[in-house]
Amino acid sequence: MTTPLLQAAELTRHYSVRSGAWPFGRTATLRAVDGVSFTLPAGRTLGLVGESGCGKSTTAKLVLGLVPPTRGEVRVMGETLPPAGTARWRALRRSIQMVFQDPLGALDRRVPVGDQITEPLIIHRIGTPAQRRDKAVATMAAVGLKLDHFDRYPHELSGGQRQRIVLARALVLEPKLIVCDEPISALDVSIQAQVVNLLVDLQAQLGIAYLFISHDLRMIRQVSHEVAVMYLGRIVEQGEPDSLLAQPAHPYTQALISAIPTASTRTRRGRIILKGDPPNPIDLPSGCAFHTRCAFAVARCRTETPALRVMADGRRVACHLADTNSPRAVA
Ligand code: SF4
Repeated sequence: MTTPLLQAAELTRHYSVRSGAWPFGRTATLRAVDGVSFTLPAGRTLGLVGESGCGKSTTAKLVLGLVPPTRGEVRVMGETLPPAGTARWRALRRSIQMVFQDPLGALDRRVPVGDQITEPLIIHRIGTPAQRRDKAVATMAAVGLKLDHFDRYPHELSGGQRQRIVLARALVLEPKLIVCDEPISALDVSIQAQVVNLLVDLQAQLGIAYLFISHDLRMIRQVSHEVAVMYLGRIVEQGEPDSLLAQPAHPYTQALISAIPTASTRTRRGRIILKGDPPNPIDLPSGCAFHTRCAFAVARCRTETPALRVMADGRRVACHLADTNSPRAVA
């Protein structure tokens, strides 16, 4: 069996936090990520989706080694990701790059575009100055930037062009995996599709894998080979995007999908309004963490945490009633 490019095994990240006013407060545990497991083969895309605060971005930081796991591990090409800052971590990190939400925040406004794209090659001591410049120019062309952008500054370019610079900085090291954390949500709607199409084209040409994080299920569907839905630090449903969006099995996925706007009156669907607010992450409900907002909850849901089980169609679902709920056709 081929070793997957990326494996997360029971990945967990807890934080100790103080709750309540001093001196009467107590120390509590915030379960940002709680036992997340997935595999990502080379050249494929896993979309991670969920509301803000569900643990998507912490999962990205764990995969990049920017925060250490409390429990579990990340394996890259079969090798456990070493502690950040070690020589082996730096070597592996060359294969894993990142693209974050805010391109201007990720770039140095005082440094010309070409120098910023060349910088990762200098850090990793790759090539001569002339070779680095040639590599940077070729990478700029691959992401749709022109040669005359080389000596310009990020603030002189549009939001879409700035995100292309960030992408070129990641690509210049020829990574095997790019972690994209909300890579298009800061861009105009008209530019979002261009950047998504570029990511898809680059994957087809270069065989890169993406861990694509977004709250936008429509965008996730366009880029992903598999989608994992997260709620309060856990994956609650995972499967192939078309079937997951057409027949969501978990009540939380059903609610997320029902909130996707649709222009067509023929496909218009009823919006599922979830009860109440999301629970406090430092005081999670017992049993299924979704039971306080779930319209299908039964007594068992309040006491027993549902495992992520493989269904007959290969999808993984964490719901006691996944076999018995009649999935709603919503897309
Ligand atoms: Fe709802 Fe129970 Fe399923 Fe949780 S386990 S999603 S509360 S039906």
